[in-house]
This record gives sequence, structure tokens and C-alpha cells, in this order.
Amino acid sequence: MDLVLNVADYYVLTPYVYPASWPEDGALRQIISLLVLTNLGAAVLYLGLGAISYYLIFDHNLKKHPHFLENQVQREIKYAMTSLPWISIPTVALFFAEVRGYSKLYDSVDDSPLGWPGLFLSMISFLLFTDMCIYWIHRFLHHKLIYKLFHKPHHLWKITTPFASHAFHPVDGFMQGLPYHIYPFLFPLHKVLYLALYIFVNIWTISIHDGDYRVPDSLTSVINGSAHHTDHHLFFDYNYGQYFTLWDRLGGSYRHPSALMGKAVLLMHDKQLSKSYCK
Ligand SMILES: [Zn+2]
Ligand SMILES: [Zn+2]
Repeated sequence: MDLVLNVADYYVLTPYVYPASWPEDGALRQIISLLVLTNLGAAVLYLGLGAISYYLIFDHNLKKHPHFLENQVQREIKYAMTSLPWISIPTVALFFAEVRGYSKLYDSVDDSPLGWPGLFLSMISFLLFTDMCIYWIHRFLHHKLIYKLFHKPHHLWKITTPFASHAFHPVDGFMQGLPYHIYPFLFPLHKVLYLALYIFVNIWTISIHDGDYRVPDSLTSVINGSAHHTDHHLFFDYNYGQYFTLWDRLGGSYRHPSALMGKAVLLMHDKQLSKSYCK
């Protein structure tokens, strides 16, 4: 995050916003800047990528589904935009620790313990680590004592649109985002790669809510795509994963997606769904 902060300082904040007497490395100044940048960045990524996906990828026929709510898109956006500022507060605490040098983030490939292969390995380990953590956090959020407190709002949407992707209770949103922020405190990671991965996870989160069920045939049992996550929203106790089906298989919660077995979501029998609705 210090890359973003440095660019913002250099081009905008130092010349136009803060008084010259307030040094760039002042703690309060960094916290205020990080809060503004985190909220702006989150809103731009969510609304920008969400809109691209909604207009170019989302199957608008899904809006005819009996369980698509009235004004659902507006409600998803309103819920997400209300939660994001709250999520940003603890997130900025972690970004601040990063900026103050407490993470294992590094600037140059020369600092990578294994050179370029190290960058490739950290990309793989980032995906595997965060996938594992999100699986267990998500499963924990479904525990009957926790579910209604924090995770239920995200399951209000049975037929999701790309804008449901970030529509979480603030505690839910922060907990499921935590693995991304914890990783660079535990493992070395290139700063530019971290930014790229951060954008990627936002795109992925949107993509599993976009109603586009296409996954190459050979990967349908490996990749947790939109079809898998749609079944999570519909049937509740399955497919908690983020990128891969690995942990759902190990944890006994894998369900091969209905949409990939020729059962289009639009045609699903309501009786099949009613079981999950009482939850
Ligand atoms: Zn869930
Ligand atoms: Zn979801």
C-alpha cells in the first residue's frame, strides 16, 4: 500500500492537499491518507469492475427468476457501499503497519529470496493460503451461533449479481478479507505483485457472483467458479471455497454445480430451494 500512498503523496497530497509543515511520514497524516485512498480504491474497484461485469457478462435473464428481489441491484450496491467504510477502518490499521515497515513486502526482484521464481511461487502460495483461510472463515461464519449475526445479509441474495460480490456485513467483509492482508506479514511478497493480486481477488470475487457459469470442462472440478458459488447461495451448506474446490472436497462440502449438470438456475424447482430458505 505504500506504493499507492507514495504516488498519491507525490502527485496530489503533498503539492495540493496537506500544508508543507505536515511531513509525509507523519503517522496521523498517513492514517488519514490511507483511509481516503482505501475507501476510494474500494469504491472504484467495486463499482467500476462491478458495472463492467453487470453490463457485459451478467446474464440479465436471471432477473426474471422468482427469487430475484425487487430493486435487488440497488439494494446490493447500497449495502456494499454502506459496509465498505466500516471495513476500511481495521483494514487501514493493517495497511498502516505495512507502510511503517512491519510486513515482509519488498520493493525489488533482487530482494526476492528466490529471484523471479520466488515471485511465481509467492503468487501460487498466496492463492493457496488465502483459499484455505477463506474456506474455514466462511465455514465458521455459517456456524449456527454466528451466521445470523454477520453472514446472513450476504445470503439475502439467492440469485446474485456482480454487485452482490462486496455486499457483506462489515464484520463478515473484514473477516473474509483478512487472509489477503495477513499474508504479507507472514510471507515475503513483492509490492507490485501484491497490488496485482489485490486487484485480481476483487475481480475474482465479482466473477463468482456474475451468473456466467462457463469454466473449461477440464477445470470444472478444480475451479470454484460462478456456478459453484451460485449453488452456495442457493443451497447454503456447500461450496464455501473461493478459487478452488480443494477445501470443499477435503471438508466434505463439495457439491457439483447444478448449472453444470444441465439444470439451469432459471428452471430449478422451488421445492429444491425451499430447504435452504428456512436458514
Ligand atoms: Zn456463505
Ligand atoms: Zn457470495
